[in-house]
Amino acid sequence: MPIATVNPANGETLKTYDALGEEEIEHRLATADAAFRTYRTTSFAERSRLLRRAADLLDEDTEDVARVMTTEMGKPVKQARAEAAKCAKAMRWYADHAEVLLTDVEPSDADVKDSGASRVLVRYRPLGPVLAVMPWNFPLWQVIRFAAPALMAGNVGLLKHASNVPQTALYLEDLFRRAGFPEGCFQTLLVGSGAVEDILRDPRVKAATLTGSEPAGRAVASVAGDEIKKTVLELGGSDPYVVMPSADVGKAAEVAVTARVQNTGQSCIAAKRFIVHADVYDAFAERFVEAMKALRVGDPLDEDTDVGPLSSERGRADLEELVDEAVESGATVLCGAERPDGPGWFYPPTVLADITPEMRVHQEETFGPVATLYRVADVDEAIAIANDTPFGLSSNVWTRDSAEVERFVRDLDAGAVYVNGMTASHPAFPFGGVKRSGYGRELSGHGIREFCNITTVWHG
Ligand code: NDP
Repeated sequence: MPIATVNPANGETLKTYDALGEEEIEHRLATADAAFRTYRTTSFAERSRLLRRAADLLDEDTEDVARVMTTEMGKPVKQARAEAAKCAKAMRWYADHAEVLLTDVEPSDADVKDSGASRVLVRYRPLGPVLAVMPWNFPLWQVIRFAAPALMAGNVGLLKHASNVPQTALYLEDLFRRAGFPEGCFQTLLVGSGAVEDILRDPRVKAATLTGSEPAGRAVASVAGDEIKKTVLELGGSDPYVVMPSADVGKAAEVAVTARVQNTGQSCIAAKRFIVHADVYDAFAERFVEAMKALRVGDPLDEDTDVGPLSSERGRADLEELVDEAVESGATVLCGAERPDGPGWFYPPTVLADITPEMRVHQEETFGPVATLYRVADVDEAIAIANDTPFGLSSNVWTRDSAEVERFVRDLDAGAVYVNGMTASHPAFPFGGVKRSGYGRELSGHGIREFCNITTVWHG
């Protein structure tokens, strides 16, 4: 895949980049290694000051960087602005909280005494340069979600961003440099995915985090496993969105639209499978389909656009293939499912019903504005369908019945359960999945501690 900005709204190649050569990669690894040796000794106050400065700069740059993101991967520009704001918020959150999250932990007096020590503490020390392999779908947020905690913990970052968002990748390196982070604390490596293995095997790289597809996760985790290096993986999702009879069905249908089509449906935590109790199925389906049909699909730079083009021609072809296979296998089209003529990689908001387990849409992630509807008889069936997927990222349930809530929280195989609302990440809450959605957690105290050397200090 060439490293290039190709506008998904019209297919025009705007800028191409040469991948870094071996010598340039070596120079950047050496710079990261050198930077870590001194940066690790800086105070939380100093790191915090730098991260706050980066957040302020990002706020000032919002308009420009939002347009770059939209031009590179096609998200509606108002959503790009919101993404930038969310990044600034997360940076400030970690600037405020990292020191407390990484404060020494003292075991109980009884345990200290039992070990024969006079004092014991657990300290969170940084690991070193961490490689971040990141996707294009939230080109700023996916990176900041890694970088803010990593930098606050005293690690340094090496970013291998997706090949279709090079300008956003370079912007991020520049942002941290302008904020005053010492040279080498955060570097962008413009390389293709073929270069990742050698970089990860380099002894100066201590760990890796990857957000993206299952094959990419498997490739990176295999190499890291071979090198005995820590990884965090945040892979795909096919999140269920369950609606039970006690729910506010109107509200559930309204939120379902955003939950499905945010970022033109290209979000790992988007609700993808809508599992609705038979008592409210027709009412939900009618409202949901009407609202999906009413969405404005068009130029992502237009302020009124709800749904832009998909990020790549390949992405649209993959999505179309899933829909076509379902329809050929008997799925009913409630709206959409027709690729429009004309330039750009647009695909309409689509709702499919009568889904069967054999269909690929049932088992695979639909990375675009395509929803599947299921009619269920009771909680047991809802949970069975919700869990009948290789993924386990997040889940959404709509019910006012507290016993049902407890059932869902107990039995849904997912890293999160959102009750009467849609999944949305927040810096204070852990984020990550189970099953093929990956392992480890980002954000919150759990996220910042993933890339720490958790050190026991024992005093005799
Ligand atoms: P990929 O997983 O291929 O890309 C994500 C990142 O991984 C990119 O930086 C990519 O680099 C890199 N990468 C890809 N393959 C390897 C490899 N073998 N070794 C090392 N790094 C690798 O995502 P795609 O863009 O191809 O999207 C495909 C599907 O992945 C989507 O349809 C969706 O299902 C899922 N996905 C999930 C995301 C999420 O948020 N969980 C985000 C994006 C995609 P390069 O760009 O150079 O190939």
